[in-house]
Amino acid sequence: MDIDLSFQAMTMTAKQFGEMSQNFLRETMVATGGKKAIDKLTAPIWSWGQRNSVYPLHFGIACCALEMAAAGGPRFDAERLGIVFRSSPRQSDVMLLNGWISAKIRPSLKALYEQMPSPKWVIAMGECTISGGPWYDAYNVIQGADTFIPVDIYIPGCPCRPEAMLEGFNKLSQKITAENRGSFLDD
Ligand code: SF4
Repeated sequence: MDIDLSFQAMTMTAKQFGEMSQNFLRETMVATGGKKAIDKLTAPIWSWGQRNSVYPLHFGIACCALEMAAAGGPRFDAERLGIVFRSSPRQSDVMLLNGWISAKIRPSLKALYEQMPSPKWVIAMGECTISGGPWYDAYNVIQGADTFIPVDIYIPGCPCRPEAMLEGFNKLSQKITAENRGSFLDD
């Protein structure tokens, strides 16, 4: 901080001083490339935290939801992999769709997806979610979740086994690592 700024600081309120310090730090970091260096140094830590603590939104649509429940039970114990189900979209990273999506429920799912903070991901679990499944070409069933929200991982099966669900989360973890490498480490 130069002498002019120090002199100004003596006449400021605590709030003004806080704002000035923040701006000063930000401008200095950007000008010196310090921000980029810190991003590069800390990116692996954020990436590690993100991929090991994916919180899916806790709700079930149809029969595949029972497989989700089994994956969360003591035999498969999804929590040991950092998959912790949350009941609020505002605390969730992943929307796990697990059944046929009727035209009636689609707006609610879209609203829940929009309430989730970024970065967020979507997993389509089971044939119904992926393509309508047995309700192929039905007037009241959406023919794939990716027709209204972006899907990152598809887990085929009718129903998918809990092991398949856990493997889907494993693939998501790999995807998060690759995305973080692309966006933070290689620029
Ligand atoms: S994919 Fe099969 S098990 Fe899963 S919700 Fe559809 S009908 Fe049920």
